[in-house]
Amino acid sequence: MTSRPILIRLFLSAILLGATAASAQDKGSADPRPLPPLANPDDPKLGAKELFGRKVLPAAMPTQAVGFYAKGCIAGAEGLPINGDTWQVMRLSRNRYWAHPDMVALIKRLAAKAHKDAGWPGILVGDMSQPRGGPMFTGHASHQVGLDADIWLTPMPNRPLSRNEREEMSAVMMVRADRLDIDPHSWTPSHLGVIRAAAQEPGVQRIFVNAAIKKALCREAKGDRDWLSKVRPMYGHDYHFHIRIKCPPGSDACESQPEPSESEGCGTGDLAYWFKDSVIHPKPPTTPPKPRPPMTLAQLPAACKQVLAAPDAKP
Ligand SMILES: [Zn+2]
Repeated sequence: MTSRPILIRLFLSAILLGATAASAQDKGSADPRPLPPLANPDDPKLGAKELFGRKVLPAAMPTQAVGFYAKGCIAGAEGLPINGDTWQVMRLSRNRYWAHPDMVALIKRLAAKAHKDAGWPGILVGDMSQPRGGPMFTGHASHQVGLDADIWLTPMPNRPLSRNEREEMSAVMMVRADRLDIDPHSWTPSHLGVIRAAAQEPGVQRIFVNAAIKKALCREAKGDRDWLSKVRPMYGHDYHFHIRIKCPPGSDACESQPEPSESEGCGTGDLAYWFKDSVIHPKPPTTPPKPRPPMTLAQLPAACKQVLAAPDAKP
């Protein structure tokens, strides 16, 4: 028996362990190392993230979001240019600036609007999807079908960021230390402006923010408040907000999600759960939860097999 496969496995698990909890805050490297080739790519137990994580370019196929936000893939994704007049893409090493063209167009519109109306020089764009979507090594359960995007709650600086800065720079924490409200030292009316601009986009289905941010939006939104119904509290959104768009026309294999209720979601009862002590300071479980086996290719919609097998789109 040779020790080589064991070494490869050790190397892989080191990569995985080092990065299990990626978020907007996790730093990347300006000189990322490519993943080693798979010893057995046809192993049915292999996590689909191993296959999708190794694709560098989109599938040369007609555009189609396939499956559900947290269980699917995308054919014919488009890359968001890493620089625009009013946006810059962060953490380039993750190669997650791919999405359905409708999402790419929305980001460009939102960036221009944030610049013009929200008093920001522009937006910093975090994770969208991998070139062919699918599950990822780190971070998200969703972002699999090219219809999700993370936007930093930190305005774009007034100059192009270097490659290194895009990997190393941290977003600003928006939530107060006691977790019950926003941090007034970092929160500004422009933050409300950029979230509102995103929520008012007709194609947007939901926006996820930390509950303290939702509380601040409820308190401070003036005039039209219809957009508040789309903004939902969610764990893990202290530094960025998450935009989710509806299944676009033409994506017949895309699985939609029920529309959010029309209520603003601003009543005390609506937010009470999120500010319970047991939610803000969860007790560690007495027995550590068993790690779940990764999602396999067989668990994804059948069309995702073709998306993986398709030739690379032209860069
Ligand atoms: Zn997200």
